[in-house]
Amino acid sequence: MTTRTRTQLLREEEAREEVSCFNCAKSHKVSRSADSTICPYCSTYIGFGDVEIREQRTSEVRTHGDVLVKKGATLVGGVSCRNLKVYGKVLGRIRCTEQAAFLASSRVLRPVSCGRLLIGKKAKLHFSHPITVEEAEIRGEAHGEFTCLGRFHVGKRGMVYGAVAAKAIVVDAGGCMVGELRIIKEREAIRRFGRTLAEAEGPTS
Ligand SMILES: [Zn+2]
Repeated sequence: MTTRTRTQLLREEEAREEVSCFNCAKSHKVSRSADSTICPYCSTYIGFGDVEIREQRTSEVRTHGDVLVKKGATLVGGVSCRNLKVYGKVLGRIRCTEQAAFLASSRVLRPVSCGRLLIGKKAKLHFSHPITVEEAEIRGEAHGEFTCLGRFHVGKRGMVYGAVAAKAIVVDAGGCMVGELRIIKEREAIRRFGRTLAEAEGPTS
């Protein structure tokens, strides 16, 4: 048995990261160098690796790493990850703890929840479900109903059609917004955020 000094123990503690479980949402600490863990509360496997979808994948992707859906690829199942980049299509529910970037045109038929939403320059996106985000940057075209806890930014070639409720709306010269615009207080945003998040937590199929 090895005896660790107090300093070593402290160092190990610093090198650990909180990870929340996809299944039961409880958090536990994991070493930063680990590439997977098992939830101590419900035994769900949690991977940390990055995933690349090249052609088609039907099973759901769950990782605390980043996911890239390449051009021409289709992810039929849902995805839970940190950052998501979509050049192809995702047909299932989308949950990102950080950014969801849509960089090619598509129709998003299932709920999306993410910290930051990015619509790429030449992308035209139609969202069937209302989306609530902390921050949004629209460089292309976005259709849907958006609630934003922070800044909703429409770039110089950005176009938004639908309804936007945000704490702050910034439209660069050349950008365009058509529809219902509302500036909301944080409290209301959080209430709406809670509601749409609950919708996003619903059953997969
Ligand atoms: Zn769990």
